[in-house]
Amino acid sequence: MARASSNKAFEIGGVTIAPGERAVVDLPIARLYTHTDLTMPIEIINSRRAGPRLFVCAAIHGDELNGVEIIRRLLRHSALKRLNGTLVAVPVVNVHGLLHRSRYLPDRRDLNRSFPGSEKGSLASRIADLFMHEIVAKCTHGIDLHTGAVYRENLPQVRANLDHEETLRLAQAFGTPVLINADLRDGSLREAADRFGIPMLLYESGEALRFDEASIRTGLRGVINVMRALKMLPAVRGRKHKVEPVIARGSSWVRAPESGIISSTIALGARVAKGDLLGTITAPLSDLKSRVEAPCDGILIGRTHLPLAHEGEALFHLARFKRISEAEQQVLALQESLEPALHNGIAI
Ligand SMILES: [Zn+2]
Repeated sequence: MARASSNKAFEIGGVTIAPGERAVVDLPIARLYTHTDLTMPIEIINSRRAGPRLFVCAAIHGDELNGVEIIRRLLRHSALKRLNGTLVAVPVVNVHGLLHRSRYLPDRRDLNRSFPGSEKGSLASRIADLFMHEIVAKCTHGIDLHTGAVYRENLPQVRANLDHEETLRLAQAFGTPVLINADLRDGSLREAADRFGIPMLLYESGEALRFDEASIRTGLRGVINVMRALKMLPAVRGRKHKVEPVIARGSSWVRAPESGIISSTIALGARVAKGDLLGTITAPLSDLKSRVEAPCDGILIGRTHLPLAHEGEALFHLARFKRISEAEQQVLALQESLEPALHNGIAI
């Protein structure tokens, strides 16, 4: 067998991590008006053996917490002993937002609409610029971990530019039941990384400000699967519980036809047919009762948990498929694969 070629040193924030070293770097972001220095914590594992340089980041939206826990568990995973290449783990990108338990930065900007940023721009723009120079530009691949917004929960899904061959291969390896060929959003990290030619996946699952065990486990397994597909970790033969992702043809939000109180018992992952009842809208002091129906056949990939809605508010997110029964089967496959672990409680 040919000997693996040796890795190079990795430099970040003026710190050099030699091949074979693992280090935590506190990357200076800003000085607060309290005279406190704020830093972005980053852990780098630089293998002796050359390979891809993958960054995995979370909490670009400061209230999206599942990814913080996915990265914590990833960094303790025994498989990393056999790492090739370099893993750059950034559990909290939007440190200001996490401190305030907010999606945004203190200037109310959305960091994920501020990429690639600039050195002299807004606070969000400066952080985006720092992230691009210190992390993205030094890596070959990226995974960005997200959740739904507050009161909104997402079924595990990967959004990526699936027209790009390598990105599609990695998205399929991740192993969520649903893949969404997402248009690049202006100002997102994914768009900026794409311009650098870096294949990037965005994982979405669960809800803001909560830990969801199924989302965390699916995300952790997905990151490890991608690392195996990149040969950063050895392949495993005969994997049990393989989920074969199905690409959605498109997706649409079903909005509240009028303001009111929503009742709904439909679960994420449910298959619905056009015209099926998704929920009803009532009012506390009237006989008003209206039906919210599925506008098309689909799988429920997102929903609100807040029982209150103004007219026009997004309530249910449906993904459409060419072969919907395949997507339904993969949702069931994921649920089955998670069940034993979830029944036994949290064990990590
Ligand atoms: Zn997000």
